[in-house]
Amino acid sequence: MANLIDSDAEVDDGRLPGLEPTKPGEKPRVVVLGSGWAACRFLKGLDTKIYDVVCISPRNHMVFTPLLASTCVGTLEFRSVAEPVSRIQPALSGAPNSYFYLASCMGVDTDKYEVYCEATPNAGLPSDPYLFKVAYDKLVIAAGADPLTFNIKGVREHALFLREVNHAQEIRKKLLLNLMLSENPGILEEERKRLLHCVVIGGGPTGVEFSGELSDFIMRDVRQRYSHAKDYIRVTLIEANEILSSFEVGLRQYATNHLTRSGVHLVQGVVKEVLPDKILLSDGTDIPYGLLVWSTGVGPSQFVKSLDLPKAPGGRIGIDEWLRVPSVEDVFALGDCAGFLEQTGKQVLPALAQVAERQGKYLAELFRKIGKENGGKAGCAADIPLGDPFIYRHLGSMASVGRYKALVDLRQNKDAKGLSMAGFLSWFIWRSAYLTRVVSWRNRFYVAVNWATTFVFGRDNSRIG
Ligand SMILES: Cc1cc2nc3c(=O)[nH]c(=O)nc-3n(C[C@H](O)[C@H](O)[C@H](O)COP(=O)(O)OP(=O)(O)OC[C@H]3O[C@@H](n4cnc5c(N)ncnc54)[C@H](O)[C@@H]3O)c2cc1C
Repeated sequence: MANLIDSDAEVDDGRLPGLEPTKPGEKPRVVVLGSGWAACRFLKGLDTKIYDVVCISPRNHMVFTPLLASTCVGTLEFRSVAEPVSRIQPALSGAPNSYFYLASCMGVDTDKYEVYCEATPNAGLPSDPYLFKVAYDKLVIAAGADPLTFNIKGVREHALFLREVNHAQEIRKKLLLNLMLSENPGILEEERKRLLHCVVIGGGPTGVEFSGELSDFIMRDVRQRYSHAKDYIRVTLIEANEILSSFEVGLRQYATNHLTRSGVHLVQGVVKEVLPDKILLSDGTDIPYGLLVWSTGVGPSQFVKSLDLPKAPGGRIGIDEWLRVPSVEDVFALGDCAGFLEQTGKQVLPALAQVAERQGKYLAELFRKIGKENGGKAGCAADIPLGDPFIYRHLGSMASVGRYKALVDLRQNKDAKGLSMAGFLSWFIWRSAYLTRVVSWRNRFYVAVNWATTFVFGRDNSRIG
């Protein structure tokens, strides 16, 4: 068994509470790890007439990540980008043998067909950590990835990440706190400058979109409502190479010019160390900051690293063209935690929502097919022909850069030819595309109302909590 459970804790998995294997005559049980893009699209498509489903995740909602940056400055409210899992798959809250467990999976025993979990801590349960196990007929691992820090000293301690709603909440609180503190009497000029220096590390789409949102916030809201701070607040975006390296060269140039015109200071540099109040670059420069957001891509999580499963290049869980984990039966992996094994001859796909979502959709269809052929129970799918493998076609990339401007790059890959455009029309396409992608009508409504409110009244800058 591969696991993250502390070996000193001597877990006797025979005595753990949990769900026992399904009996003959009962529906097969699918256990899904995660509640992100991949897991939720799979859950949405899963045929619950055929399967019972158990979803295990440390959060009970899916995050609509493409709009997360907008929540940090109050363009959108947090609830507008969080979609409860039980709305995506109603069986989780209503069907007799289907459940959602707020827990993290700590280990998988592929011989016993069991997963071992730890309930969210400090919840007042009979023991803490509260461990339990769940037996599966089919296991779907969609546990995502962790931010890459390249083991740079001080990043985990002092930087904020932007992957979850609570990260966006922390960023918003810190930004508003610094704005308030900078107005206190007696604050020295240098200290005021530091407090109001927002630094973003990583010039990928997330770093650029967040910088664009910040510069919008400064241009429109800070200038009007924090006039004492307006001459001090600054945004610096630090990137080791060039920003938006996966975008077409003309779009990159457009983004660079636009961000610079919007007051974002672009710095090419490599971070060596992060201290509580300043960043040290490898060329010897130090950059004082009040808010530091780290966004340099993702890599395999501790959980994924701990699993005794084949690995793809880069350390993700290795899968074949049908998203199966070969060498173990009835285990599938998808999204940011999975990558094609070298022997498939396919490249590991980028860590994108559009990959995760389409894999989720594909797998739900595959499960329907397997289930209809009576292959849903553990060990029963080996001889079932699976049909077409998963094929990914990239639909293109988009990124907003602030002030009603965005980039749209519809090329299938970096070297292909195709339409690319930038400006207001692209921004309109960006907003419309994401508005239609938001999972529920409820959140689509929230997003539209938030955008309209921000347009008319400006961003909400109350610091609650
Ligand atoms: C700010 C931001 C903006 C983005 N913008 C875009 C964009 O515009 N377009 C695009 O295509 N992509 C975008 N992405 C990337 C996209 O969000 C990811 O590729 C996508 O979320 C991957 O989906 P996933 O389901 O694999 O992982 P995630 O969505 O990260 O979900 C992983 C899930 O697993 C859970 N989990 C973690 N560990 C465990 C465990 N041990 N046990 C059980 N559950 C666990 C997590 O709580 C989470 O619910 C963006 C990402 C971010 C952070």
